[in-house]
Amino acid sequence: MSNLTPEVLISEDDIRKRVAELAQQISTDYNDSGDLVMIGVLKGSFIFLADLSRQLKIPRTIEFIAVSSYGSGSVSSGAVRLVMDVRGNIEGKHVLIVEDIVDTGHTLKYLIGMLKSHRPASVKTAALVRKAESAEVDVTIDYLGFDIGNEWVVGYGLDYAEQHRTLPYIGVVKPTDT
Ligand code: 5GP
Repeated sequence: MSNLTPEVLISEDDIRKRVAELAQQISTDYNDSGDLVMIGVLKGSFIFLADLSRQLKIPRTIEFIAVSSYGSGSVSSGAVRLVMDVRGNIEGKHVLIVEDIVDTGHTLKYLIGMLKSHRPASVKTAALVRKAESAEVDVTIDYLGFDIGNEWVVGYGLDYAEQHRTLPYIGVVKPTDT
């Protein structure tokens, strides 16, 4: 692919403000509720998780989980496979799944079911971006950053064939760029 700079869809400033709002909401909701474990879904959530978790005003621990994704393409198969499970014991704890982006919803639905089998006290979800029009399964996002249309986005953790993850904004790669 070329090195053309993706077009800005959600600016760095808008992301910063929205992440601060979500952190405030999560801090309020989980205040006094007991152990909170934030589980980041690799790889795409690593920047969102880092920024969100550092702004919380409540105690929290961090775990990561990895699932199979679309590879280097951009078409969802609907099939989700666990590649790396959480290391710590989450039984009896409040789990907050932190996803980069929800497209069809298959990944998040799978993760909620899988993590519930570890018998946590609760399971909630946070996602920076959702493609509302692409939903194939009904899944609740408790803390959502932004709704976007059905286009492939990169930056702020998100890639296209491993490129663009460290862009500070969320951008769109034009077809002619690839
Ligand atoms: P779902 O299971 O909801 O269809 O897909 C979720 C996963 O697909 C995300 O965690 C992400 O890995 C990938 N994905 C879906 N849309 C995009 C996109 O626009 N950009 C990037 N980088 N990944 C996406």
